Amino acid sequence: MSADVLSFRHEAHQAPVAAAERAKRLIDPGFGRVFTDHMAVIRFSDEKGWHDAHITARAPLPVDPASSVLHYAQEIFEGLKAYRLADGGTALFRPDANARRFQDSARRLAMPELPESLFVESIERLVAADRDWVPGGEGALYLRPFMFASEVFLGVKPAAEYLYMVIASSVGAYWKGGMRPIAVWVSREHTRAAAGGTGAAKCGGNYAASLIAQKAAIGQGCDQVVFLDAVERRWVEELGGMNLFFVMDDGSLVTPPLTGTILPGITRDSLIALARDAGLTVREEPYAIDQWRADAASGRLVEAFACGTAAVVTPVGRVVDAEGDFSIGSGGTGQTTQRLHDALTAIQRGAAPDRHGWLRRLD
Ligand SMILES: *Cc1c(COP(=O)(O)O)cnc(C)c1O
Repeated sequence: MSADVLSFRHEAHQAPVAAAERAKRLIDPGFGRVFTDHMAVIRFSDEKGWHDAHITARAPLPVDPASSVLHYAQEIFEGLKAYRLADGGTALFRPDANARRFQDSARRLAMPELPESLFVESIERLVAADRDWVPGGEGALYLRPFMFASEVFLGVKPAAEYLYMVIASSVGAYWKGGMRPIAVWVSREHTRAAAGGTGAAKCGGNYAASLIAQKAAIGQGCDQVVFLDAVERRWVEELGGMNLFFVMDDGSLVTPPLTGTILPGITRDSLIALARDAGLTVREEPYAIDQWRADAASGRLVEAFACGTAAVVTPVGRVVDAEGDFSIGSGGTGQTTQRLHDALTAIQRGAAPDRHGWLRRLD
């Protein structure tokens, strides 16, 4: 059956992007548009298990129109970054946590579970092949592992063949010139996930279902959508792709609990640990939208922020809702939000001690 150890074949790109052109693309890469020379690939079939692990030139895929992913959306993904460290080295941030979450997502989508060691090795080998694409300064190399059902079959069942891949994208500083608070729109019509559904799995289908609400948020002049729970439409869950934290006037933090409808963010988990390290109380408990509005009005709530790998921490300044808009604190970036952002990014950059053993150095 599937071996935890596979030997990777390396096929170097025959015509990689020239150094001068790469330097040009890295000046202002933005997010998710500049891609590296290579990609990692591992195949799975019921018959052979995991096989054919290789690093190869990044190229379009031949996709049969009957590939089952195109019809039944059996697909999962991950997102993590490789950072250039203060001492010139390179490191991944908690790739083992992404590996375990990828296995959890796979199980929920009835897909094979890639061994943790192969997940991490595929990323390490890709970053090694494309090391020159890791930006300096405040940029990073964003890694996107994903897996989809590649079997050519229209029957509805878990596929017998899968393709696992990792692609990499050079990204710039998310917050150029400091953090800017976002406005969020509360979706009263659409929900993201229900108990028993796929809310805790990182699958493309969750995003597909959230886009209509995200589009409505943009239409309301907001940056992001806030989802409420699917049963009572009362409990704040998360944004389309980021978890939420609330900061109270006594310095404590509240974040919605992981009850199966929320994506268990690794940034969320890391910030809980850092806040507790700093002596702050963090409660993982349900928080109602009406409570959020009342606490913002009374001053009991002083800050709110969203978090995820791409932006790390994003302050929430304003909430737009059919039942009444409200602002949070001064509408600017709060002290605790800034402190937690700075503490986490300092560890990721190797500028602060890595007490939790989160960095995996690549050199
Ligand atoms: C990926 C994701 C997050 C954030 O997870 P991180 O591990 O912190 O990047 C939050 N919510 C959703 C829906 C996500 O897909």
